[in-house]
Amino acid sequence: MADAAEVDRAVERAVRAFPAWRAVAPGDRARLLRRFARIVEEHAEELARLEIAGAGHTVGNARWEAGNVRDVLDFYAGAPERDHGRQIPVAGGVDVTFAEPLGVVGIIVPWNFPMVVMTWGVAPALAAGNTVIVKPAEWTPLTALRLAELALEAGLPEGVLQVVPGEGEVAGARLVEHPDVRKIVFTGSTEVGKLIGAKAAEQVKRVTLELGGKSANIVFADSDLSRAAESAPMAVFDNSGQDCCARSRILVERSVHDDFLARLTEAVREVKVGDPNDPASQMGPLISAEHRERVASFVTDADVYARGSCPSGPGYWFPPTVLAGSSSESFRRAFTEEIFGPVVAVVPFEDEADAVRIANDTAYGLSGSIWTRDVGRALRVARAVEAGNLSVNSHSSVRYWTPFGGFKQSGLGRELGPDALSAFTETKNVFISTE
Ligand code: NAD
Repeated sequence: MADAAEVDRAVERAVRAFPAWRAVAPGDRARLLRRFARIVEEHAEELARLEIAGAGHTVGNARWEAGNVRDVLDFYAGAPERDHGRQIPVAGGVDVTFAEPLGVVGIIVPWNFPMVVMTWGVAPALAAGNTVIVKPAEWTPLTALRLAELALEAGLPEGVLQVVPGEGEVAGARLVEHPDVRKIVFTGSTEVGKLIGAKAAEQVKRVTLELGGKSANIVFADSDLSRAAESAPMAVFDNSGQDCCARSRILVERSVHDDFLARLTEAVREVKVGDPNDPASQMGPLISAEHRERVASFVTDADVYARGSCPSGPGYWFPPTVLAGSSSESFRRAFTEEIFGPVVAVVPFEDEADAVRIANDTAYGLSGSIWTRDVGRALRVARAVEAGNLSVNSHSSVRYWTPFGGFKQSGLGRELGPDALSAFTETKNVFISTE
């Protein structure tokens, strides 16, 4: 666990490595990132196993995640050669813009998706010519450390990508306050994100914040109800609900509410919770005993409509849980706060306007789903819901080709997609007189 002095030494190395890294020709930087992607691919199974060991992810998810790291590196390997500026017509000369790298970028990562969240920052930051220091979460540093070793193996120069494990309040806080760190990408809780935003403001330090969520899954009566019900469990229980995009509030049009709940209950009972190493497992344990206690504090027996099953032996197991049909104070709390566990709360709504009102009645705005066969309504509701990532008749929210991030208190800025480099560059305007 790095102390502040260790972080300072890492920043010094990153500052020293920056001039040479930004000077690497775009084509060569692209080649190095592609080689990094190849080496990740060769070590994909090893990385997946580390994520299972460190974070308890199911083997299916962990393999997908290692593949995502490779793909995101490959995608942004295409960026250095396409990081075009503009030529703007002006009188008396030529005006051009340059996208200049920022310098040293600090990336602070949560424990729920360690290697993918790290890479969403690392790949575009490196592609843009920055040097990077990653501070992984206390509980899950293994894949981050291994990825930094693989980067060296791929030929990235020393000091270009460093990983500094440490406590948030010590190592993370030092990255935020260090004057030579020019940008912080923080993914984690809204509570800590606010602290980091405030601290960074003292130096007008750039920030991207990817924070919490309480996303709505809105099911209209005209939807394909069986698909909506069958897909709803994994839209919230994937990664044991430890997912910022979890659709943890289900809003169902009143006329199909009871029918939907019956189908949902059936689907929840079929979710396979078990050993993460078993390819049949859809859901593993929670990250820690402490977190399981927190999740349990949201569940009051009287609010429970249905429960799935889970193993009873060693492990921080928690069964998939549906809360519905209650108006208690405890239900309201579970419906409003981010639980970050396998708990979903279901409520009825009256009409389209009511659905939008309930969906937006939250400080968060990360993602959401809309189930309807009416294309006009799908678009109206998608435009009306205040969230950064919406899907219609599906639950996908993260594709590396498309921008990802939150409205309101779910964050600031966007990751991934075609414009991610602009979060790691400054626009410089240069006018050259021809007179
Ligand atoms: P957390 O906020 O407790 O910690 C996140 C990271 O910040 C960790 O590395 C931690 O060590 C560090 N940290 C803690 N205090 C700090 C401080 N004072 N200064 C600097 N760094 C500090 O979050 P968590 O419990 O690890 O993750 C769960 C949260 O992350 C959930 O709220 C979830 O919704 C959110 N999340 C959001 C996204 C997204 O893309 N929007 C993705 C994944 C997780």
